[in-house]
Amino acid sequence: MEFHVTPSGNTLVTLIPGDGIGPEVAESARRIVEASGAKVEWEERRAGASVFLEGLATGVPEDTIASIRKTRVVLKGPLETPVGYGEKSANVTLRKLFETYGNIRPARELPGIVTPYTGRGVDLVVVRENVEDLYAGIEHMQTPGVAQCLKLISRKGCEKIVRLAFEFARAEGRTTVHCATKSNIMKLTEGLLKRTFEEIAPEYPDIEAHHIIIDNCAHQLVKRPEQFDVIVTTNMNGDIISDLSSALVGGLGFAPSANLGSDVAIFEAVHGSAPKYAGKNVINPTALILSAVMMLRHLGEFDAAATVEGALLATLEQGRTTRDIAGDENALSTTAFTEAIIGNFGKRPTVWKEREYKPLAIPVVSSAPDFVKEPERRVVGVDVFVESSLGPEELGKSLEELSAGSAFRLKGISNRGTVVYPLTHAMTDCVDQWFCRFSAANGEPTDTEVFELVNRIGAKHRWMHLEKLQEFHGEEAYTKAQGES
Ligand code: NAP
Repeated sequence: MEFHVTPSGNTLVTLIPGDGIGPEVAESARRIVEASGAKVEWEERRAGASVFLEGLATGVPEDTIASIRKTRVVLKGPLETPVGYGEKSANVTLRKLFETYGNIRPARELPGIVTPYTGRGVDLVVVRENVEDLYAGIEHMQTPGVAQCLKLISRKGCEKIVRLAFEFARAEGRTTVHCATKSNIMKLTEGLLKRTFEEIAPEYPDIEAHHIIIDNCAHQLVKRPEQFDVIVTTNMNGDIISDLSSALVGGLGFAPSANLGSDVAIFEAVHGSAPKYAGKNVINPTALILSAVMMLRHLGEFDAAATVEGALLATLEQGRTTRDIAGDENALSTTAFTEAIIGNFGKRPTVWKEREYKPLAIPVVSSAPDFVKEPERRVVGVDVFVESSLGPEELGKSLEELSAGSAFRLKGISNRGTVVYPLTHAMTDCVDQWFCRFSAANGEPTDTEVFELVNRIGAKHRWMHLEKLQEFHGEEAYTKAQGES
C-alpha cells in the first residue's frame, strides 16, 4: 500500500473525529501519536451526524472521500446514524466505498483490567469478512408477511479474507488460525469459506489450520478462550464473536479495530458515540488509542507503536483509569488519562510479552469479476417462489395442472425450507410463501420455456422470485429442501 508522504517527510493520515464522544477520543489519540514522535501528519475531515443533518444521505462528504483516496489511511472516531435522517450508516458507507473487506479485532488481556478471565492469557484476533454475507443488506418482503435477506458469499471474498487471516497471523508471529463457519447447515455459502480455507491453508505450512463450527466456537470462547489465536469467519458470525471476545478482556471501551482493504485502511474503536457522555471529559479513550497503535504498525512505525502501547498498558497497570473502570471516586478525566499515558512514555507494563511485529503483506487477489470460471454448466430446473393462501395439496395440484405439457414437471413444494408437497408427515406451520421446485422434463430448458412456465403460473398465482437450478461440472449448484429426495 502506497502512503501519501508530505514535503516534511511525514505520512498523511485522514482524521475523522466523528460524533458524540468522538472528538474527545480522537483528540486523545492524536495527542498521544504526536507525542510518540511518529512521522504522521493529519488531514481532518468530517463524516456522520452533522453531514446527515445537512441532507447528505451517505453521511460522507466528497472532500472526505477525496482525502481518503489520497492518504489511504484513516483514524476515525465513532459516527452516529441519526434515526430519521440517514437510513444508511456512514461507517458502512466508508467500508463499502473503500472495499475494506477485512475487519481485524484483537482481544488481549490488559494489565490492570480485571475480568472473570484475568490470568488466563486471552490473546486472540478475530478476522471478520466485512462487506459480504447477510450484511450486504439485500432484503425483500416476499409477501406482506414474509421477509428475505440474501446471504451472498463469493469465492473471491473468501479467498481475500482467508489470505488476510494467514498473513495477519504471520505479521504478528501467531501460529494458529481457526476458520469458524456454519458449513454444516449452509453448505454452499458458509461451506465456501470452509472449502476456500482448506484449499489455501497448505500455502501457509508454518501456521496450524483448523475448522470449527461457529456455535461451538462461541461456546469455546467463553469456556477456554486461551486456546484461540486467530479466528477467521464470515461477516455476521464475526460481528457476534468479536464483541463476545471484547467482553472477555474488559468490554468495548478497550476494543480496537482495523478495517483493511487492498487500497485503504480505516482504524477505529469498536464502541459508538455514547452521546450521553459527549463533552463531559469522562470517557475512556483506550479503544481508539489501541486502534492508533494498530495504525502506527500499519505505517511501519513499529517503535512509536511500542512506545504508545507500553505507556498505555503501564498506565492501566498503575490503576490510573477513567470512570468506566475506576468508578466516580478515583477516576481520571479523559485528558488527565491522556497526560498520564504521555508521562509514561518509555515505560512498559511488568506483565506483558511483546510481540515481534512484521509488516503485514496485504494479499493480492485478482480483481476479475468472474473470479471463478466454470466451463461446463447446465440448467436442470427452476425454483419459482409463489405467494398463495391455498394449502399445499391444493396449490400442488394447481401447479401440476398449470405446468402440464410444459418443459417442466413439478418436483415438490417447500414452505420455510421443508417439503410439504407431495404430502409428508412434517408438521410444518405454513406461511403464504411457497418455494416450488420444477425439474426440466426433457433436456436443458431454454429461457423461453422458463418464461412460459412463469407465465402459466402467473395466470393463477402471484409469483415474486425465480431461481434457475444449475449444475456446474455435473454437480448440483443448489441445496435440497428438508425432506427432498
Ligand atoms: P455506544 O456509543 O458504544 O455506547 C454504549 C455504552 O457503552 C455507553 O453508554 C457506555 O456505557 C459505554 N461506552 C461506549 N464507549 C465508551 C467509552 N469510550 N468509554 C466509556 N464507556 C463507553 O453504543 P450505542 O449507544 O448503541 O450507540 C450510540 C451511537 O453510536 C449510535 O448512533 C450508533 O449508530 C453509533 N455507533 C457507531 C459505531 C462506529 O462508529 N463504529 C459503532 C457503534 C455504534 P455506560 O452507559 O454503561 O456508561
